[in-house]
Amino acid sequence: MADKDIFKDIISHCKEYGFVFQSSEIYDGLSAVYDYGQNGVELKNNIREYWWRSMVQLHENIVGLDAAIFMHPTVWKASGHIDAFSDPLIDNRDSKKRYRADVLIEDYISKLESKIEKEVEKAKKKFGDSFNEELYRSTNPRCVETKNKIEEINSGMKNALVENNMEAMKQIIIDCEIADPVSGTRNWTDVRQFNLMFSTQIGSVAEESDTIYLRPETAQGIFVNFLNVQKTGRLKIPFGIAQTGKAFRNEIVARQFIFRMREFEQMEMQFFIKPGTEDEWYNTWKQKRSAWHKRLGFPETKYRFHDHLKLAHYAKAACDIEFEFPFGFKELEGIHSRGDFDLSQHEKFSGKKLQYFDGENNESYVPYVIETSIGLDRMFLAIISASYTQEKVASSNEGEDATRIVLKLPAQLSPIKVAVLPLVAKDGLPEKGKEIFNRLKFDCRCFYEEKDTIGRRYRRQDAIGTPFAITVDHQTLTDNTVTIRYRDTMQQERISVDAVEAIVKEKLDWKNLLK
Ligand code: ATP
Repeated sequence: MADKDIFKDIISHCKEYGFVFQSSEIYDGLSAVYDYGQNGVELKNNIREYWWRSMVQLHENIVGLDAAIFMHPTVWKASGHIDAFSDPLIDNRDSKKRYRADVLIEDYISKLESKIEKEVEKAKKKFGDSFNEELYRSTNPRCVETKNKIEEINSGMKNALVENNMEAMKQIIIDCEIADPVSGTRNWTDVRQFNLMFSTQIGSVAEESDTIYLRPETAQGIFVNFLNVQKTGRLKIPFGIAQTGKAFRNEIVARQFIFRMREFEQMEMQFFIKPGTEDEWYNTWKQKRSAWHKRLGFPETKYRFHDHLKLAHYAKAACDIEFEFPFGFKELEGIHSRGDFDLSQHEKFSGKKLQYFDGENNESYVPYVIETSIGLDRMFLAIISASYTQEKVASSNEGEDATRIVLKLPAQLSPIKVAVLPLVAKDGLPEKGKEIFNRLKFDCRCFYEEKDTIGRRYRRQDAIGTPFAITVDHQTLTDNTVTIRYRDTMQQERISVDAVEAIVKEKLDWKNLLK
């Protein structure tokens, strides 16, 4: 099945099984805003917990923070967001659709990249074992020509963005003959910059009110509290401050479900270091964050690093961890070496010193910062996409239909950990089932259900990623055993009721994911 169809299936699956709903759906929805349903909220909380435990619990030198969404408006002047937090926007006059000019160009580059990959695949098949891929990539005229073209477009775009030259941006779109994917035409408007911050008024009387902004990132809450946390926590450099919370951006293009939202949640960590040590720490955090993703057990080929062409106004170096979503490789997390830009700017605009006093060397300095920043919703989409599996199963198996849909989530992240299912709703089985449920509920989120055939109940649990199903049958009443069914293999084992707790606890232990 085409990846496009898979993406559609994932979106409908998210709705059908209570993961994600369109916001205000009964009023036809609000564009790029979503609500998390009964299963979505559990999965989201578990992903956040995985991040928090890895960052805060496992590092003795990282602490948490929960700053307010509203901040003094000067914060955004100092951070550069009022002047420079914008995206280049372009409209197609025929479809009336709006696009980010840089994204149109990046998508075009992706197409060129896949052209090269196709050439290489073809040659691989043709030449068999004697094929020298490296040599082929560097000498085959079609590969070389396409590669040069990509480099030329990339450098043109980099210059246009750095120089804020929107005419040059448009020229690239014209030169590459990029057409609107909807109308198929090249009838483009000029490119213009568009600020992404939402503003509102604070204060009850209109004349006295001030414009304030909904924060477009959580990071600034960390910077302005840098000294509060450092002093009260008696923290020594290097140390980090971690925070999760809502951020808001008036995104131009918002058509990829929860990939790009106007209200979303970030998980950010700012690591404060001594100037001069930034390269070492930048690499350390690249490696640590990559390991965090890989511990989830999805194929390693789904991740890649991408170095930034256009460095943001604050950055010294920056890269993205990209993930292969159903619509291609896209940014999942950013890792940025921000220098002392933010703290120095806040010193300048607030007139307050934001320096660290190093008692051992008797010196004060403005620390440098390495930031790791990941969108919780985007991580949610990555995890759902990687876990969503359609499997052919023998139709006799469990008496259910031949295709089963299963979310192969890491057990710690599953919304429901254990489903307790009496085989029939009579003969004392429900009572025994409830007894088991009431024992297990103190350890993890459980679910109890007695209606419908057992096969259908298993399928519904597979579809939300429940790793264990405990089935209570008549034998349970005589020998106190149940069957435990494992989601991924569908294998069933007969075990004693008393063993259930230990098995479940062992498999769900966070240590398995964190170590
Ligand atoms: P993009 O290039 O995709 O717009 P960005 O480079 O502006 O992203 P950052 O400012 O680095 O993103 O934000 C850090 C992280 O926050 C991103 O890696 C992403 O996971 C998440 N994020 C950013 N914007 C959104 C959004 N509109 N919806 C959901 N998540 C987002």
